[in-house]
Amino acid sequence: MASRPDRGRVEINADECKGCLLCVSVCPTQVLARTTNLNKQGYFSVGYTGSGCTGCGFCFYTCPEPGAITIRRLEKSA
Ligand code: SF4
Ligand code: SF4
Repeated sequence: MASRPDRGRVEINADECKGCLLCVSVCPTQVLARTTNLNKQGYFSVGYTGSGCTGCGFCFYTCPEPGAITIRRLEKSA
C-alpha cells in the first residue's frame, strides 16, 4: 500500500513519555504505536509508525506529559 503524505510532523520525546497510550487511542489516522524502546523512566515509549500524520494535534492536547509531544504543521508544496 502506498504511504500517505505527511501533513504534519509529530515528534515524540521518548524520555518524557509515560507509555499511557492516550495519544494512540485518540489519533484518528492510527499512526502512533507503542515501541519496544524502554526509556530512562522505565516506560515503553510511543513512536511514529511512519507516514500519514495530519497535524491535527489531538495527541498533543491529550498527552498529560508536557514536552512529550511536539506537532508541526507542514506547508503544502507549490
Ligand atoms: S497530530 Fe493527529 S494525526 Fe498526527 S500523530 Fe497526532 S493525533 Fe495522529
Ligand atoms: S499520551 Fe504522552 S505520555 Fe502517554 S503514551 Fe502518548 S506520548 Fe506517552
